[in-house]
Amino acid sequence: MTATEIIAKANESEECCFSDCLAIELKGKKDPAKLVFGIYQSAAGHYIGRYCPECGPFDRQSGYFETREKAEEYLEQMAECFVEI
Ligand SMILES: [Zn+2]
Repeated sequence: MTATEIIAKANESEECCFSDCLAIELKGKKDPAKLVFGIYQSAAGHYIGRYCPECGPFDRQSGYFETREKAEEYLEQMAECFVEI
């Protein structure tokens, strides 16, 4: 599987943010926002994790990588840790 396919598959899950998600708190929505799995960048580098469209970064599921390509490589090698194959 390619990194893009793994990300797409991981995003089939409907996992949501915390119950105090800003979607509820600030926007009056009934449910917390759905988390988006992907490769993100912070000051420390690129990492694999989930992001809440309302609250921002939710969790980190890898170490930090210098480049997005290295993070993709790791994702492909460790695919079974992130999605069911
Ligand atoms: Zn949230």
